[in-house]
Amino acid sequence: MAVLEHLTSQQAIDLENKYGAHNYHPLPVVLSRGEGVYVWDVEGKRYYDFLSAYSAVNQGHCHPKIVGAMLDQAKTLTLTSRAFYNDMLGRFEEYATSTFGFDKLLPMNTGAEAVETALKICRRWAYQKKGIPENQAQIIVCENNFHGRTTTIISFSNDPVAKEDYGPYTQGFIKIEYDNLVALEKALESNPHAAGFLVEPIQGEAGVYVPSEGYLKEAKALCEKFNVLFIADEVQTGIGRTGKMLAVDHEDVKPDILILGKALSGGAYPVSGVLANDEIMEVITPGSHGSTFGGNPIAAAVGMAALGVIKEEGLAENAETLGEVFREELNKFIPTCDLVVKVRGKGLLNAILINDTEDSSTAWDICMALKENGLLAKPTHGNIIRFAPPLVMNHEQLMDCVSIIIKTLQNFSK
Ligand SMILES: *Cc1c(COP(=O)(O)O)cnc(C)c1O
Repeated sequence: MAVLEHLTSQQAIDLENKYGAHNYHPLPVVLSRGEGVYVWDVEGKRYYDFLSAYSAVNQGHCHPKIVGAMLDQAKTLTLTSRAFYNDMLGRFEEYATSTFGFDKLLPMNTGAEAVETALKICRRWAYQKKGIPENQAQIIVCENNFHGRTTTIISFSNDPVAKEDYGPYTQGFIKIEYDNLVALEKALESNPHAAGFLVEPIQGEAGVYVPSEGYLKEAKALCEKFNVLFIADEVQTGIGRTGKMLAVDHEDVKPDILILGKALSGGAYPVSGVLANDEIMEVITPGSHGSTFGGNPIAAAVGMAALGVIKEEGLAENAETLGEVFREELNKFIPTCDLVVKVRGKGLLNAILINDTEDSSTAWDICMALKENGLLAKPTHGNIIRFAPPLVMNHEQLMDCVSIIIKTLQNFSK
């Protein structure tokens, strides 16, 4: 079958099932077009996108400014490798470092690569700056974390589905309870070889767990006390999603190492990166780390445009305002139905907790019903549904979505 021939949804699903590895369990909808907060399936049905590609498409689908920058650059120069300089990367680095207030950026492509990069920087810093004996550095991580899919990263996951039968696992990680400062202090006190604390400011994949107020600030202070690097994985929470440019901005915390990905490109292209100040980033020396595609001219052009759109269109502020409205509307509804336990989140990163067991199909079935009603969302961890629309949504569209969600839940409880 020719690639460009029109496919029905069923044909597209059959092709993926037959020829693709089965490493995902998608909702049965086949998308062929996107614009702003909307996506369309191959039959022409329109949906509100309430996943935004796991918060990569914060700037909305096919944002003209981002796509324009990408097309212009694609016609000019796509890839040089870092064996040579290119005339775009430095501009992106200057723009990103001034946006986030760090001395240096190390550009990569995917979120997992950026996390790996942060772990490598942290380990080098441990040996070269903190004076930890060779191969003894420990990095503290949290239970129920999600940082990506590489063998090292899944080594400190506690999700059996992500981890099982991928051993032997990488050593050097200490797992503590999330949102537990006592556990963090204990881990820091009892591990003189601790070098870093890697944390998601809100645990997205785990089900949008928002830590107690003050947790990030106190955690950062503890890290400072024990000379341990505070490493924020803002791949999902960053770039306007939670109502500030970064989720750590809610508590005025400045991480030692900041990890970005996903919306750093507005979903147009894989662009990720790690930011740090010179005294940390200088442990990275020529040849000690790299990526063929990392920092390529298209990524640089797209990254600059994507960050520009967030600032120019006030998308963090919009997320803050609409997020309040969303939770307020759902909080009015929740007491009237026994299907939803609660709504939680920050900005436009929210989730509802379904009143059923984790292994029930209720959340999945609700997402199927939402799809029928023109809104796409996906369950995470069984009985939790994440709601994360593009940040370019307006108030009227949000109220339309709230009414779709409430109607769907009402009909479902019947
Ligand atoms: C998605 C995600 C990653 C991994 O990003 P990929 O681009 O899928 O490799 C890492 N950390 C967090 C918090 C994420 O949400």
